[in-house]
Amino acid sequence: MIERESTRRRTWLQLLASETEPTSGVRAAMASTFDSKYAEGRPGSRYHGGCEVVDELEELAIGRARDLFGAGHVDVQPLSGSAANLAVHAAFAQPGDPVLALRLEHGGHQTHGSRANFSGRWFSPLHYEVRRDDELVDYDQVRELALVHRPRMLVAGATSYSRSFDYPLLREIADEAECILLVDAAHLAGHVAAGLLPSPVPHADVVTFSTNKVFRGPRGGVILARTEHADALRKAVHPFIQGGPSMHAIAAKAVTFHDAGTEEFADYVRATARIATDLADALTARGLRVVSGGTDIHLAVVDVAALGISGSEAQDRLNRSGIVVDKAVLPFDERPVAEGSGIRIGTPAATSRGLTADMIPAVADAMLAAMSTDDLATHDRIHREISSLACG
Ligand SMILES: *Cc1c(COP(=O)(O)O)cnc(C)c1O
Repeated sequence: MIERESTRRRTWLQLLASETEPTSGVRAAMASTFDSKYAEGRPGSRYHGGCEVVDELEELAIGRARDLFGAGHVDVQPLSGSAANLAVHAAFAQPGDPVLALRLEHGGHQTHGSRANFSGRWFSPLHYEVRRDDELVDYDQVRELALVHRPRMLVAGATSYSRSFDYPLLREIADEAECILLVDAAHLAGHVAAGLLPSPVPHADVVTFSTNKVFRGPRGGVILARTEHADALRKAVHPFIQGGPSMHAIAAKAVTFHDAGTEEFADYVRATARIATDLADALTARGLRVVSGGTDIHLAVVDVAALGISGSEAQDRLNRSGIVVDKAVLPFDERPVAEGSGIRIGTPAATSRGLTADMIPAVADAMLAAMSTDDLATHDRIHREISSLACG
């Protein structure tokens, strides 16, 4: 199965917005002996013996993250981005407290108040949306909901939204409503580290992100926060929601925090955004509509209604043709969430494997051809052609 999965990654064009290809340094750290070490607790105060080396390792990771993002408090122990968000809720809110975030169908994440998730089941979700006309976050609505409902937390950040957020404005709103501002930068942390998008760190009370997206690190989460919140957040991660940290992932995070400070990393992130823009433009030129008219980052949400198919049909046809994307619900979508009217495409994995801007017209042609037919022989033919662009 490992071999089959490696082959699949090599011979399908990987356009999942949330995936990338970690570097050999990250892979080496993930496969290292740190995986075996139990180190419940924090550097200098562990529940287990033999933590001399891992104490140094965790301090190194924390120091590098602090240098990279300029945050007062850094926690590298969260096991994932979702776990980091759970910890932030545990630190600042009580069950039943209102939390205001971007609606899932408008690009939000399930940890932002989905009924299927702790955030929607144990807290009282309130949702702001994007505007109908330009499909950008409606900050007037954010302010109105915040002032009327006085949420405990205001959450910014998204999983299927191709723009950055207005952090100074969100800070202003959070101050007026006297609530905690959480920025979930899962998709944006790489761009911020590379200096290509404004940083939420000076404005937010707390910032969370996964290290395994465009950031090109191991699977895992990080919390950055103002120093005054350090104690509450630390206890919320351990012992409230987690036991021992994944020391191998912390080793890999240390590698990534180093790499993310290099020019080479900035070039890679810049390339993901450039190629995403080119692909969004190429699909627009071929008659599809891109939500909010384009992208500032590595992902784009594309409306496929013009082809007379649903998002899930588009995903299936593309996958049969060697191109991996996610189906997506669009803002104000009339199809059920399970189908959606769009697809979400992203470039970090393909860019890491060598996809370049000059290949984009061919990729866009292949995508249109694949989505426009249900004919298996055509899908097979496109797959054979796309293999050469998959950059195995
Ligand atoms: C991916 C994502 C997460 C969750 O990350 P995991 O590491 O998969 O738990 C949280 N928030 C946003 C906005 C995301 O896009």
